[in-house]
Amino acid sequence: MTQFFEPAARLGLIPPYLFKAIDDMKAEVKARGVDIIDLGVGDPDLPTPRFIVDKMIDAVQDPKTHHYPAYSGMNLFREAVARWYQGRFGVELDPAGEVLTLIGSKEGIAHLPLGINDPEDLNLMTSPGYPVYQMGTLFAGGRCYFLPLTRENNFLPDLDHISPLVARDAKAFFFNYPNNPTAAVADKAFFARVVDFCRQYNIVAVHDAAYTELAYDGYKPPSFLEVPGAREVGIEFHSLSKTYNMTGWRLGMAVGNPAVLAALGKIKSNIDSGAFDAIQIAGIAALDSDQSCVRENCAILQERRDILVGGLKKLGYDVAPPKATFYVWMPVPAGMTSMAFTAHLLEQAGIVTIPGNGLGEPGEGYVRLALTVPKDRLEEALARLAKLG
Ligand SMILES: *Cc1c(COP(=O)(O)O)cnc(C)c1O
Repeated sequence: MTQFFEPAARLGLIPPYLFKAIDDMKAEVKARGVDIIDLGVGDPDLPTPRFIVDKMIDAVQDPKTHHYPAYSGMNLFREAVARWYQGRFGVELDPAGEVLTLIGSKEGIAHLPLGINDPEDLNLMTSPGYPVYQMGTLFAGGRCYFLPLTRENNFLPDLDHISPLVARDAKAFFFNYPNNPTAAVADKAFFARVVDFCRQYNIVAVHDAAYTELAYDGYKPPSFLEVPGAREVGIEFHSLSKTYNMTGWRLGMAVGNPAVLAALGKIKSNIDSGAFDAIQIAGIAALDSDQSCVRENCAILQERRDILVGGLKKLGYDVAPPKATFYVWMPVPAGMTSMAFTAHLLEQAGIVTIPGNGLGEPGEGYVRLALTVPKDRLEEALARLAKLG
């Protein structure tokens, strides 16, 4: 039979999928009836706090929420975002021009390059990293330049060693702290360095701040916008997904430079019709709450972190407790690749992890473990690892 159609050539830009062998192995291990412990997914296992769900139930009963939403988001939601930024970071935002509602931050990150990049434009991005920076860039016809995150550079890109030729060519720079997958954090001095760099070379700074609220031991991750000059050169993506266990709801925001937000908003208004008003109303309740739900969530994650990291250390693994995010970025045992260790854990212990190189070549030599399972499952995982020796 002749092929009915050829998919667009741009789908060929998607990097080769490395994990067919792992997926097959997972299916085979499952079929054997093994009780799988999945430390692979970055999706909270805990439910959305009850008061947010209740607000949604009320809101959805109101027919006023059943219409097309405003493109850039409800004024009331954008005002709540501005209040939350003021309260949490001391950052003042104009809700009209400096806040844009998103259908989850992935949506905004993926669409941004369509609004700021011309074909062949170069975007800088840290690697390993969230794949959407790369895919959004490629779908917009742009090119990617990866800045490796390694133990030697504390998982912070070394901006001083980017060739001026590359920097002059660059249009945007994607970075993400607290970081997925390395769990690294950045201080305001690093953000100030980013502002200088982006100002010097006219680069749009794009900070993905999805994990600022998941932090431990009293640590409070900063917003990029806390740094003077940040909003002149860039924007920040934020999301209710990780903060309030709302991944399925699809609600996020972009804040900062009004011209960059307008470019993104123009793309969006021609592609989607905004986030459901009832979800935004529930989001307002979340942002305006006393944030005790976030503290409770972090306490649970911190206990899990201590169990997992403490247990791994006892078993001789070389791992440090993350200050933020719900990930543990663990070096694989000497002489093994990320893939080999992932396969080993799956086959021998029924434990699913993410091989670091799957999120970018510099991630080779690591696996990512997520704290998104209850502590008894983490203890079970540790018991199985202990048996493995
Ligand atoms: C989870 C995550 C997001 C947020 O995704 P949403 O689309 O808002 O659910 C963004 N960036 C990173 C790095 C993430 O891990």
